[in-house]
Amino acid sequence: MINDVVIVGGGTAGWMTATYLKAAFGDRVDITLVESPRIPTIGVGEATFSTVRHFFDYLGLDESEWMPQCAASYKLAIRFENWRGDGTHFYHPFERLRVSDGFTLADWHLRLNGAGEPFDRACYVTPWLCENRRSPRLLDGSLFAGELDGSLGRSTLEEQRAQFPYAYHFDAAQLATYLTGIGVKQGVRHVLDDVTAVGQDERGWISHVTTKEHGDVTGGLFVDCTGFRSLLINQTLGENFRSFTDVLPNNRAVALRVPREEQELINPYTTATAMDAGWIWTIPLYGRNGTGYVYSDEFCSPEEAERALRAFAAPGRDDLEANHIRMRIGRNERSWVGNCVAVGLSSGFVEPLESTGIFFIQHAIEQLVKHFPDERWEPRLIDGYNDKVARVIDGVREFLVLHYRATARADTPYWKETKAREIPPFLAEFLEIAATRLPDESTIYPYYHGFELYSWITMLLGLGHAPQGARPALAHLDPAGARAQFAGLRAEAERMVSVLPTAHEYLTSLR
Ligand SMILES: Cc1cc2nc3c(=O)[nH]c(=O)nc-3n(C[C@H](O)[C@H](O)[C@H](O)COP(=O)(O)OP(=O)(O)OC[C@H]3O[C@@H](n4cnc5c(N)ncnc54)[C@H](O)[C@@H]3O)c2cc1C
Repeated sequence: MINDVVIVGGGTAGWMTATYLKAAFGDRVDITLVESPRIPTIGVGEATFSTVRHFFDYLGLDESEWMPQCAASYKLAIRFENWRGDGTHFYHPFERLRVSDGFTLADWHLRLNGAGEPFDRACYVTPWLCENRRSPRLLDGSLFAGELDGSLGRSTLEEQRAQFPYAYHFDAAQLATYLTGIGVKQGVRHVLDDVTAVGQDERGWISHVTTKEHGDVTGGLFVDCTGFRSLLINQTLGENFRSFTDVLPNNRAVALRVPREEQELINPYTTATAMDAGWIWTIPLYGRNGTGYVYSDEFCSPEEAERALRAFAAPGRDDLEANHIRMRIGRNERSWVGNCVAVGLSSGFVEPLESTGIFFIQHAIEQLVKHFPDERWEPRLIDGYNDKVARVIDGVREFLVLHYRATARADTPYWKETKAREIPPFLAEFLEIAATRLPDESTIYPYYHGFELYSWITMLLGLGHAPQGARPALAHLDPAGARAQFAGLRAEAERMVSVLPTAHEYLTSLR
């Protein structure tokens, strides 16, 4: 039996792993977490996926308790600004497309030449809530989509059936601190110390980690949560890291924490604004905005990026300290090698454009529980884990490359280069098909990667890569049903805007 786990690293990955394994296995598995008091975590304001609620519900954590402690706010969508040229915007919401007569409203939108509204406002309710800064919950705590309310209990991403309408923004450092309290209460042994060496046995597997002041820490399974350092899986075990920079050029970021002057102007969405050499995120937390410029250092120096970010997000606030980050983009060939599993940035990372870092962590720890080993270390079990993790990361890579290829933007050397880079084979074929018709389930990336059909359609239409026309079949169908759905959706959106409180009102009421 493998019943002692050592986690190295105390960022979001380390503490999410520790608390999840404890919630799953209780006292049957001992967990030690070693974290350096000296090496900081990444800790920029973080945006998540709607499916992160499986994690919180699995641990039995209630929004009203954890959100105020982590400066958390709601995220209903990502607003893409200037991706089709300056002054443009569209929303990528957490909302599936409705269907009329067997075709999505997106197909009908093409057939009806717009139905009087831009695609996102015509086909989704969420953009209306975003533009009016609404909370997804009423002041009594109930959700606007009532049938989706209530805890999911001990369920995982694989059991997700419905699209939940929101995710969260939170301060990752505060979440790690909050989870530390939970983990220690659950019985996690917390060692605050630096790992100075990693011991290996005759097979080359990890036998122990040596700390500066607490001696050797031994265990059966080691989880590498040391961030981009990848102390165990890359530095010690030498696993090959596959870079994605051939298709995704951004390799640096600079971040600022900006106090928000007017608290009530909290947006219930993340904004991604296209810039000359990358894009800027704006993540509204309760009390401040997290912002950062993600860019390629081939086209912009760190000084230029910082200047552009300050001018955009915090003019006149030279006192705010900038945090420059080098990003390692790609994934390990295998994230589980021998008795070591890498989770978080040590396993893989694509740039933060679709907020997938914490989603990767959640997916990895759910799969770790499903593939938890015994003393046989069954190779097929480990291969199964590695396949799932690789497919999720690769699928997100394809989806992100789509963002750069589908936008016509080519007005700076950086945007020109995004079109000149190699295109992954799957995506090349996808774009060819998408030029003739909107995709369906059979044409999007075929393995689970967190994004559904509606996301692929939204990005194509939002970025301006519409097919040459509607599907021919729609010319033979009566559009009355679709017209009624567009009208009904609009009425529903207007009603919600009138009854829901603002995000600020609701979040303040939680406090
Ligand atoms: C610019 C940027 C923006 C991002 N935005 C988002 C976002 O919006 N949404 C999202 O979901 N994800 C985002 N991510 C990803 C997200 O930040 C990470 O996935 C998440 O915070 C997990 O990080 P981590 O725990 O793997 O690593 P880190 O936060 O780097 O933590 C590493 C830990 O390892 C410890 N450590 C390292 N070496 C040693 C040692 N020798 N001994 C002991 N301890 C050691 C450190 O002390 C630290 O505790 C972003 C990442 C970047 C770079």
